Parts: sequence; structure tokens; C-alpha cells
Amino acid sequence: MQIIDGKLVSKTIREELKRKIELANSQGVSFKLTVIIVGNDPASEIYVNNKAKGCAEVGILSETVKMPESTTQAELESVISDKVNDDSVTGILVQLPLPKHLDSQSALKLIPPEKDVDGFSDGNVGKLTLFKQDALFSCTPFGMIKLLEYYNIPLCGKHAVVIGRSNIVGKPMSLMLLNKDCTVTVCHSRTPNLADFTKNADILVCAVGKKHLITADMVKDGVVVLDAGINRVDGKIYGDVDFDGVSQKASYITPVPGGVGPMTITMLLYNTYLAGINDEKRRV
Ligand code: NAD
Repeated sequence: MQIIDGKLVSKTIREELKRKIELANSQGVSFKLTVIIVGNDPASEIYVNNKAKGCAEVGILSETVKMPESTTQAELESVISDKVNDDSVTGILVQLPLPKHLDSQSALKLIPPEKDVDGFSDGNVGKLTLFKQDALFSCTPFGMIKLLEYYNIPLCGKHAVVIGRSNIVGKPMSLMLLNKDCTVTVCHSRTPNLADFTKNADILVCAVGKKHLITADMVKDGVVVLDAGINRVDGKIYGDVDFDGVSQKASYITPVPGGVGPMTITMLLYNTYLAGINDEKRRV
């Protein structure tokens, strides 16, 4: 059994990104991420700080636009529009969740797919669905694909079972795996007898948010397991997979923490780079 080391892969990608950005800078191309945060949610503030730190590490310029809790929809949309029209800004991200009185869908609609480095916009989801090369992909599933690539795990013809169908993890992951020629099964909260599906998985992706939903008796020998779940219980973080049991049967498995988690911000940096160079080779 091989542990998929997300910290190592993340570090490797950031080092490569730093080199590419230095080269692009020397040719006059720069990259800038604008993060817009509304209100004072402490978790969001931590995420935003980590994004700014990540940008500094790889040489992406960044700015954080901090707006008060009382911000109106019109004020938020005016800031987004300014950034959309600012050619020095290559990527725009609105930190979610927004305060309840704001309509995030209407705000996010203003960000064109080329600057939507979160990959959440209708345009980028449409491009992913149509397997277009120039899509910017949602960062967490994109990170999981990069983990599979780093470890040279074969995907073509494999049966991938994705548990969870959210717009930010499960659904885009299932499309990316389909794009990689997997046969994909998507399970969700209304799927009866989950084990009937998970037992047949060559690749098992968990994006649910339920501690140890997947146990050793639910998987077959040799399965590759990617666990995006983050479940905080008594100050400790657990995945959706019972790592101790399932790792006895898996060929590859991500730990939690230290597996999928470290990849998400790295792929945001990667997307900001891709948005800046407008590279034709943006593909999973
Ligand atoms: P979500 O709540 O939007 O979606 C959860 C999905 O799980 C739903 O589609 C639901 O149908 C499915 N589900 C719920 N109970 C189930 C059950 N018993 N059996 C099968 N499916 C079930 O969550 P999300 O935003 O997709 O996040 C999923 C998990 O991934 C969470 O733990 C979240 O914290 C984590 N996450 C991690 C990162 C990261 O950077 N590592 C990023 C995003 C989300």
C-alpha cells in the first residue's frame, strides 16, 4: 500500500509553478489574484490568508478586497465588475459563503470564465461538461486528478465510484474522471446499499462529510482511495474513510489530513497561472 502524499505533491507543483512564473515574468507576463471577502467569518479569513501566502510563495501578485458585513449586493457587484475590467487582474475569487443577505449566484455570474479561477461559473462547468480544453476546473477535484497523475495511477477503463454530487467536488470530479476514460458511478445521499457500488470500485472518491462512512468491508483489494472529506470531531480531523481499516486493502490511499486537502489552494494558484497565460493545454 502506498500513501498518496498530498503535501509532497503540492510542494512539487508549487516549485514547478514558481519556475514557470519566474520565466513568464521575465517575458513580461505577470499574474494577479484578487480575492473578495465580505464580513468577518474567521474560517474564511484563514482561507483567504492562506491563499495570499500561497500566491506570495509562487510569485503571483495578490490583493484581498475586504468588504464589511453591511455590504450591499450593488456594492459587491460593482467591485467585481471593476476587477473584471482590470487587465492586471488575471483571477478573481469571491470567498464563500457570503453573508446571508447577499446573492452569491448573481455575484459569481459577473466573473467571466477566463478569470473564474475557482472554476465554479456556469461557463467553466459547461466547458468541463463539454470536455473543452480551456476550462478552469474546480480546485479540489482538479487536485485529486493531479494526485492520480503524480502517482501514475492508470485511469483508462477503470471503474471510478464517486460518493457525493456537490457542484464543487463530487460532480466535477465525476466529469473529470469520465474525461479520463473511466467508467463512472456517482453515489449520493439517496443511493441505497452504498457498499454494492463501493465494492466494485477500482478508484473510490469520497466527498461526503461523514466520518468513516467507508469501512474496509465496503471496498475490494487493490482499490485506489481519494478522501476529500474533512470531519472535525473533538478537535481532530477525520476523513470519510476509515483509514486504518481501508488502508489494509487499498493499493493507494490519501490520508486525512495530508492527502487531498493540501492540493486545493495549490490548484487555485495553478488556475491563476493558467488564466494568466491563457494556455491551450489546460486539460486534466
Ligand atoms: P456537500 O455537503 O455539498 O455534499 C455532500 C455530498 O455527499 C452530497 O452530494 C450528498 O448527496 C452526499 N452524501 C451525504 N450523505 C451521504 C451518504 N450517507 N451516502 C452517500 N452520499 C452521501 O459537501 P462538499 O462541499 O462536496 O464537501 C464534501 C466533503 O469534502 C466535506 O467533508 C468537505 O469539508 C470536504 N471538502 C474538502 C475540501 C478540501 O480542500 N480538501 C474542499 C471542499 C470540500
